[in-house]
Amino acid sequence: MADCIFCRIAAGEIPAQVVGRTAEVVAFRDLNPQAPVHVLVIPVRHHAAARDATGPEGERLLGRLVAFATDVAAQLGLDAGGYRLVTNTGKDGGQSVDHLHLHLLGGRALGWPPG
Ligand code: AMP
Repeated sequence: MADCIFCRIAAGEIPAQVVGRTAEVVAFRDLNPQAPVHVLVIPVRHHAAARDATGPEGERLLGRLVAFATDVAAQLGLDAGGYRLVTNTGKDGGQSVDHLHLHLLGGRALGWPPG
């Protein structure tokens, strides 16, 4: 989508600190980090949110996103301490960018429940 900021990051049209990429998935540092490590993992193909990645192809994509996020977490040294993967969905979920993304948060002890 031309007016989607994450589509534009995936296409290389907007700069980002990319930490990993495949043909389908891109991982880059969040502009406003909430933890020492805060990476966003997105599909190149636009889906508004996790609930929109439906059917066999959507399920496969969601699996790839999580698998890639765990690879990035390991590369960034988070396995020993642990980390959190979260996807905000819709207004009550606190989603501010309508392009499916996982937040990978780590590098400190994270509180629970979230606010
Ligand atoms: P959410 O509120 O769950 O939709 O998460 C969107 C995230 O995208 C927020 O944590 C923002 O800080 C982050 N963000 C927005 N624009 C950019 C950008 N250009 N580069 C990196 N992160 C961004």
